[in-house]
Amino acid sequence: MINEIYMKVLIIGSGPAGYSAAIYAARANLSPVLVSGLEPGGQLMITTDVENYPGFADVIQGPWLMEQMRLQAIHVGTQLVQATIVDVDLSKRPFICKDDNGTLYKAETLIICTGAQAKWLGLESETKFRGFGVSGCATCDGFFFRGKEVAVLGGGNTAVEEALYMTNHASKVTLIHRRDQLRAEKILQDRLFKNPKVHVLWNQVLEDIKGKENPLAVTDLLLRNQKSGELSTLPVEGVFIAIGHKPNTAIFQGKLNLDEEGYIIGSPTSSETNVKGVFAAGDVRDKVYRQAVTAAGMGCMGALDAAAFLQEEGIL
Ligand code: NDP
Repeated sequence: MINEIYMKVLIIGSGPAGYSAAIYAARANLSPVLVSGLEPGGQLMITTDVENYPGFADVIQGPWLMEQMRLQAIHVGTQLVQATIVDVDLSKRPFICKDDNGTLYKAETLIICTGAQAKWLGLESETKFRGFGVSGCATCDGFFFRGKEVAVLGGGNTAVEEALYMTNHASKVTLIHRRDQLRAEKILQDRLFKNPKVHVLWNQVLEDIKGKENPLAVTDLLLRNQKSGELSTLPVEGVFIAIGHKPNTAIFQGKLNLDEEGYIIGSPTSSETNVKGVFAAGDVRDKVYRQAVTAAGMGCMGALDAAAFLQEEGIL
């Protein structure tokens, strides 16, 4: 027998955007259901120390923060389901979403908070040293590299912004790019080239990350010159992988307006998408700020917009 649940608000995703949407929707008496995905908590689950989420004078841990958000969402009345939405029908209301157990969610409004994932190179050493010198976010982890020499990999806006951000902390920042030209905007490139702490290595591919055991720590990068094939070693204590992000929007392809990189195209002044009653919040639609606190703010907007929509439609 097919299990069917009806709700006014369905939230997909359990990062800061999803939980904040749930907290606001529950407190508006909308009895939201949040489908959390198989690995609840989003990108903060792979972060260690968090020092930039307002409200905590002492350093907190990413997974702890997400657990607090989860509990807060439950305490105010959210129904949490640990499953993954695998298909959506947004052609009419209520929208129908199906999870990996076959359960059908019939939802008057949908708040999409499925987030994005940083792309990784896929090296074994990259996984081994993640959190021990390898990071995907300078704004999150940069502070821990005060006075140290670090590298940033990539040639897009993210890499250049991360490199510039790291000059506030590190003694030297080496930007490593696989070509001889950056993809980043000109104004960012100008800032980068003017910064005396930055050194750029062109046509270099990161072959391997070397380090110490007990405690785990990065010591060197093994680089290969794309043109000459020559191998070299760069001593650094940290490396930031900034080779792009990928929004989690595969199930919305052809059903919602997405940009060429797959991000949901939302209204610039609200969380609305091109489908009435479908809202989007957090990194799934934001490729500029990508912070837990901005995602949480957008989640709040999603819930308020969903409540206003339900009111207008006379569903409340
Ligand atoms: P991009 O896709 O723009 O850039 C990724 C970079 O990583 C490219 O330089 C690419 O090299 C390099 N790269 C990709 N794969 C590999 C690999 N396997 N090994 C080595 N290098 C690799 O991603 P970003 O995250 O920089 O930006 C994503 C989007 O977000 C863009 O639209 C960007 O403009 C936007 N953004 C905007 C910001 C702003 O407006 N302030 C800030 C940050 C991002 P190559 O150039 O050779 O392809």
